[in-house]
Amino acid sequence: MTTIVKRGREAWIEGGTTRCKAPPPTPVKPYRLVLLGAPGVGKGTQAELLSAELGACQLSTGDIFRAVKNADSASSTLRSALLSPDMAAALDCMRKGELVPDETVLSLIRERTKCLRCRGGFLLDGFPRTVTQARALDQILAQENVRLDAVLDYELPIETIVSRLSGRRTCPSCKAVYHIAARPAKAERLCDQCGGQLFQREDDQPEAVRVRMQAYDESTRPLIDYYRQRGLLVSISAEGPPEQIFGRTLDALSGKMLVTR
Ligand code: AMP
Repeated sequence: MTTIVKRGREAWIEGGTTRCKAPPPTPVKPYRLVLLGAPGVGKGTQAELLSAELGACQLSTGDIFRAVKNADSASSTLRSALLSPDMAAALDCMRKGELVPDETVLSLIRERTKCLRCRGGFLLDGFPRTVTQARALDQILAQENVRLDAVLDYELPIETIVSRLSGRRTCPSCKAVYHIAARPAKAERLCDQCGGQLFQREDDQPEAVRVRMQAYDESTRPLIDYYRQRGLLVSISAEGPPEQIFGRTLDALSGKMLVTR
């Protein structure tokens, strides 16, 4: 199994003024990919595996919101009072499984543009999620003179997605993702990589899952056509264990002449 390498994701998660502590070494080719797919298809796990293989950072907007949420719930009422109204509303959307408004997401992305022009490339996971966000990303990348290589669209039947989400467990410290049946941790409820106490995300509860699937159908699915029309879409079946899906991902990228196998 591939070793997971964590690079300079702190700068992405902490935002704006944070200096990247571990910029990746300059690769022969910097990969710039978007990972698309319904919640629970395993985009995050594929992004981790791709990051280890290709050297680019996994950049997840969901991670930013979770980091703010954790900082907020771990702190005093005073800190809570300092949370901006936009961010407080965003966390409320997340709790219910709804999408955060585009303006909030885009202002976070604009604060982190330096991660998009990183010479190591990037793997965007969970962004863009609406056509408005995709158009804004196009504009930001054009301003930075950077082009997307491909958009990987992971596909899976809905029943499988629901079972994946309900069994998913996450490490709060290093963000590694497990599944109670398909990818269990070696020691029960403890992260293999850092020993963190695994937990079930609030938005993996049944009602939130239903809302998230609806948001995906209405707002994110149209991105499949958006990127197909631009010649960037690469469809990949997300059936089976993560290593198998990863093999398919590399095959698909080599079919597009983006990696050599
Ligand atoms: P994820 O981990 O990508 O499933 O994201 C968790 C939650 O964060 C989502 O259910 C949304 O509430 C919010 N979120 C993350 N990324 C976005 C985005 N690009 N647009 C809107 N909401 C987002």
